[in-house]
Amino acid sequence: MRLIFLGAPGVGKGTQAQRLAAQEGIPQVSTGEILRESVKQGAPLGRKAKEYMDAGKLVPDEVVIGIVRDKVAATECARGYILDGFPRTLAQAEALDRMLQEKGGGGGIEHVVSFDVPNAEIVRRLSGRRSCPTCQTVYHVEHDPPRREGHCNKCGGALVQRADDKPETVEARLKVYDQQTSPLIDYYQKRGLLRRVDATVPIDKVYERLQEVVRPSRRP
Ligand SMILES: [Zn+2]
Repeated sequence: MRLIFLGAPGVGKGTQAQRLAAQEGIPQVSTGEILRESVKQGAPLGRKAKEYMDAGKLVPDEVVIGIVRDKVAATECARGYILDGFPRTLAQAEALDRMLQEKGGGGGIEHVVSFDVPNAEIVRRLSGRRSCPTCQTVYHVEHDPPRREGHCNKCGGALVQRADDKPETVEARLKVYDQQTSPLIDYYQKRGLLRRVDATVPIDKVYERLQEVVRPSRRP
């Protein structure tokens, strides 16, 4: 099962990826994570990536693609994988296709799952988050409020809204995300690979729908 998960920050795709990966016994390939891993291992591409990260720059496509290529070719990915957070741009998607064609054997991507939540709802989800600067516990003013308003259940610390979670910041991030991702959606739609999942419903319902859309590729 070779899958790509697309979704804006705050749609809950990481949770869904974790669950499906565990059920199917395939790795969840998160680019952020494998970047950090390959930096730690001191692999050649990892060293290159580290130079950019140390300088506070975005790691260029060719480095990210090289790292994903090594990962996907590894034995742990022989039965499939879930790409989570990659590709992020059309250029990366095209490079991924070329790479999977060259590699042969393993085959191409079977499903691209887009987890859909309207932007206004994402802003509500993310801007309702409050975190404790002392113990890092995260709350949500609507879905998971602390027992005493504005104070951490665990340590009593005063809760704050992280800069990343301020509505105007969330809106700006979503705008960048939409600009980068809408060409990807078109790209995969044209190839007949796009599967849309309504991610506004409860987590278990999202997971049910996810299983329906990926089931055709399940083999005995
Ligand atoms: Zn706390």
